[in-house]
Amino acid sequence: MNSVEQNPTVAPHLVVESLGKVFHGGDEPLEVLQGVNLTMRRGDRLAITGPSGSGKSTLLYIVGTLDTPSDGRVLVDDENPFDRDEAGLARFRNDEVGFVFQDHHLLPQCTVLENVLVPLLAGTGVGNDVRQRAQHLLERVGLAERLGHRPAQISGGERQRVAVCRALINQPSLLLADEPTGNLDQRTAEAVGTLLLELAAEEESVLICVTHSLELAGRFPMHRELRNGLLAEVGAPS
Ligand code: ADP
Ligand code: MG
Repeated sequence: MNSVEQNPTVAPHLVVESLGKVFHGGDEPLEVLQGVNLTMRRGDRLAITGPSGSGKSTLLYIVGTLDTPSDGRVLVDDENPFDRDEAGLARFRNDEVGFVFQDHHLLPQCTVLENVLVPLLAGTGVGNDVRQRAQHLLERVGLAERLGHRPAQISGGERQRVAVCRALINQPSLLLADEPTGNLDQRTAEAVGTLLLELAAEEESVLICVTHSLELAGRFPMHRELRNGLLAEVGAPS
């Protein structure tokens, strides 16, 4: 049971319909996604597990418009972002999508606070209100005392918490995390996983988290497995 079924009166925020992805370039076309369907409402939190190479990152990148579908469509609030021109698509990414990757990708020369503000540089600039939001987010993840530190001066778990704040700074409606705890020890991974779950709920974002950790996936209200190009209920026969 998930909130899609619990809350059918709320309009979906993200709809993925019959999504297909084929990669060309090898000897034969590689059909990675073969009709993925997914419906999520704001505040829904989904973990995706599945074998390496099953297309988890590909699915996440297409939902975040970093890659294009070969078939099917993605709707966000009833709009297909791929109908936009390049500038519109860039705006969509900046306004609606927050990504957390396995590697934090922080800028080493910038402070913790500056790193969280980086996504604002593409927009209208950094006003006091967003600076306050950045500070609030960093306080929220327990880094109030680290604002002026550089990435090399903080731990791996702290760096990943900064990356989570950076992903959230523009209040994205889609928070997409690709093995965000893959480089962390178990205890730190657990803490970062908890933060993602809590912050997505607080911000009413749609959270999709790809993970190898069945323990982490088990803490998500929704858990699906990507297998044979399809998103399946966990444990369902293939
Ligand atoms: P996962 O994240 O589940 O490990 P990926 O989505 O990264 O899997 O990749 C799925 C499959 O698609 C893999 O076999 C991978 O090699 C292939 N693939 C991914 N990106 C490309 C690309 N740009 N061109 C060709 N093949 C790709
Ligand atoms: Mg991957």
